[in-house]
Amino acid sequence: MTISEKVAYLKGLAEGLDLDTVKSKEGKLISVMIGILEELAMSVEDLEENALNLGEEIDVLSDDLADVESEVFDEDDDMEDYDDDWFEVECPTCGADIMVDDSALLEGEVECPGCGARYAMELTDDEDEEEESEAGEEE
Ligand SMILES: [Zn+2]
Repeated sequence: MTISEKVAYLKGLAEGLDLDTVKSKEGKLISVMIGILEELAMSVEDLEENALNLGEEIDVLSDDLADVESEVFDEDDDMEDYDDDWFEVECPTCGADIMVDDSALLEGEVECPGCGARYAMELTDDEDEEEESEAGEEE
């Protein structure tokens, strides 16, 4: 039984008592109380429905947020690799190892210690590969 149904049952009981809600103070009191209970029951049921809908919306948002988090944190991991470490790339001109570290990435280029060739450094792997292959074709 929902709250509304219980209040309706209570209202039926009160009506069965055949209370005088005009002349009897007790009858009037009970009548007003039942009226208030009816309003409360409707309010509570509206709130319960809203809470259920909000819960479903939060579930959807939570799933979306999890997708965004996995994307963002994966990218952060990549950035940390660049920030904390250095790595070596092979010079496409002379084959020497070029050390790429934070300062090289900040300057946007590295200089080969073997032949002195300078290469633009990009954070995206794709562009690095394009530049390296272009430099190789010039040989
Ligand atoms: Zn070189």
